[in-house]
Amino acid sequence: MIDVADLVVEYGTATALDRVTLAVDKGEMVALLGPNGAGKSTLANTLAGLLAPASGTVRIGGRLALVPEGRQLFPDMSVADNLALGGWRSGQRDPAPVYELLPRLADLAGRRAGVLSGGEQQMVAVGRALMSRPQVLVVDELSLGLAPNITADLAAHLTRLNREQGVAVLLIEQNARLAFELCSRAYVLESGQVQAEGPCAELAGDPRVASAYLGGA
Ligand code: ATP
Repeated sequence: MIDVADLVVEYGTATALDRVTLAVDKGEMVALLGPNGAGKSTLANTLAGLLAPASGTVRIGGRLALVPEGRQLFPDMSVADNLALGGWRSGQRDPAPVYELLPRLADLAGRRAGVLSGGEQQMVAVGRALMSRPQVLVVDELSLGLAPNITADLAAHLTRLNREQGVAVLLIEQNARLAFELCSRAYVLESGQVQAEGPCAELAGDPRVASAYLGGA
C-alpha cells in the first residue's frame, strides 16, 4: 500500500530524508520510530502529497489518509463539521461508518472541537481521516500529549480498524513500547535515514534500539 524507495526530501539546502526505503503491505500495521527531528513528519507529509520529493519514488496503492501531528482541527467548528472536511475530497458525506467505529464522536458531534480534551480531539482527527474511507492510514504521533489510558483506548480503535477492515496503518511514534505492542514490523529513522528495521520482536531485542527507545530495557 505504501512503497517508498530511495526517497530524498529537502527543505532548501537541508536534507530531511536521505534515501529512505520503506514499505507497508496490504493489511499490515507498521511502526516508524525515531527521535525529534528525525524526519518522521516529513515522511508523513510526503506520503500525503504535501511535500514533493527531491528524488526517489513514492507509490501509494490505495486511498491514503493522514492523521497529522498536532491534530490540526478547526477549533471553532463543530466535531461534525471537522469530520465533514475529511470527506470533502473523496465526496464522502455520511459520517455513520465513522460513528460506528468511534461512537463517542456521535455524542460529541455538536460540540466545538476546540473545547474537547486532547484525547477527544485526537479521536476527531482519526475520525476525520476515516471519513475518506482510506485503505491506508498514516498516523503521526497518536500518543503525543495524551495520558496512557487515553492512548490505549485510541490504539484499540486503530487495531480494530486494521484487523476488521483490513486498513493498512503506518504508525509514527516516539513511544516505542506502544508501537511494538501494536505493530508487527518497525523502521527506526534517525537523522533522515533508516537505521534499523525488522519485526518488532527482533528490534525490541536489539540492545541499541532497546537502550535508545525502551529506556535501556
Ligand atoms: P518531531 O517528532 O519533532 O516532529 P520529526 O521526526 O517529525 O520530529 P521532522 O519534523 O520531519 O522530524 O523534521 C526533520 C528535519 O527537518 C528537522 O531537522 C527539522 O528541523 C527540519 N524541518 C522540518 N520542517 C521544516 C521546514 N518547514 N523548513 C525547514 N526545515 C524543516
